[in-house]
Amino acid sequence: MSFIDTHCHLEMKQFDRDRDEMISRAKDAGLEALVTIGSDHQSNIDALKLTREHDFVYTSVGIHPHDAKDLSDDILEQLRHWTNDEKVVAVGETGLDYYYDNSPRDIQRDAFIKHLDLAKETGLPVVVHSRDAKEDTLSILSSSGISKGVLHCFSGDREMAEKAMMIGLHISIAGPVTFKKALELRDIVKMIPDDHLLIETDAPYLTPVPHRGKRNEPSYIVHTAKAIAELRGVTTEDIGRLTTLNAKRLFGIGLITEAGEIAYKIRNSLYLNITNRCTNRCSFCVRTQSDFVKGHNLRLTREPSSDELIKAIGDPSAFKEVVFCGYGEPLIRLETVKEVARWIKDNSGKVRINTNGHANLIHKRNILPELKHHVDSMSISLDAQDAETYEKLCLPVYDDAFKGVMDFIIEARKHIPSVQLTVVEAEGVDLDKCKEIADSAGVGFRIRKMDVVG
Ligand code: SF4
Repeated sequence: MSFIDTHCHLEMKQFDRDRDEMISRAKDAGLEALVTIGSDHQSNIDALKLTREHDFVYTSVGIHPHDAKDLSDDILEQLRHWTNDEKVVAVGETGLDYYYDNSPRDIQRDAFIKHLDLAKETGLPVVVHSRDAKEDTLSILSSSGISKGVLHCFSGDREMAEKAMMIGLHISIAGPVTFKKALELRDIVKMIPDDHLLIETDAPYLTPVPHRGKRNEPSYIVHTAKAIAELRGVTTEDIGRLTTLNAKRLFGIGLITEAGEIAYKIRNSLYLNITNRCTNRCSFCVRTQSDFVKGHNLRLTREPSSDELIKAIGDPSAFKEVVFCGYGEPLIRLETVKEVARWIKDNSGKVRINTNGHANLIHKRNILPELKHHVDSMSISLDAQDAETYEKLCLPVYDDAFKGVMDFIIEARKHIPSVQLTVVEAEGVDLDKCKEIADSAGVGFRIRKMDVVG
């Protein structure tokens, strides 16, 4: 498992007695990088010093809203100078704190705007602290023209998270998500799209359960990741992978894999990415928005052979199921699907196919009897209650695609042991009518979230 702690304060005095050991423990716990955040002039200096001593430590320079009154022109110029350093990956911690009001509010707002201007000027992301200051935070961010940054240790409401994400910011989740009483936060964590999620410790503060009450440190990030994973119905490894990718992309640190993956794990299933071609161009398709799904790069430069897929699978019995899915319509490559699925079944694996239901149109014959002994289950994207809505949402290459999907469902029911229809929650889709279609065909039904593959 790998993680990036996107917000900690390694220079603080709480770590004076064992700083090196604490940083070693972070490395041992799988932390690929630590972003230690400056909050006043001296802490910026100390944080920079730590980046010289540890190759995987990066920093962000800024003056915390508590100390906004100290942001003189000289200090601002010093921050600007530090942003040229290659280990400085962001501007902040800045923002507004109306809970403590340690600096007058108008001075906090002025300092916040100056930090945002610096972030814009340098192209660096901004690290934002906001406590009891939702309206002013959002309004200053909206008029700043900033589109890259993070609301750290998120403690706002759902509307604040949604508006911040619309601006382009990430939402970073810290230890309080492990507190059972943090009901609103735990609810918000379920709805943040994968691409916007970050994780942090804010160490030495906000220690997660089961260490609550003690000093926090980056190696405890796994407890926060575990709580997020449970809430989102994925594994801790999935959360580590996708938040690490998000942090690398936001802060420009570490290497990002450029090669598309042909076999990728989500939860306990293995997914096969065998083509990026598709006979639909759905308005909600994630492959038009990103190359990545849950931290896996799915953009192929070429389609894998059966042998390459089999090698990439390894032991199929090690997974709950092996799913033909990926960034495209797998049944375009029917012969590859048949060959690999047969091998998976011969080696005690379970096979599922996620399809758009166009295979009989593509191959101009009923292909379902050919899959009969190789496939355990099939998820067919219905995606609309009628042909008109389907045309509008899915932009199929075939004239009569919706009828083709309906016919495919009936044939699938005859030849595949378990069939379910899936529908994306999109505007214009009548979920009740889609469910009726599934019921009358005698197959299962599942509603998919807009940005979810797998
Ligand atoms: S059918 Fe699936 S892969 Fe094809 S465009 Fe639609 S969402 Fe994307």
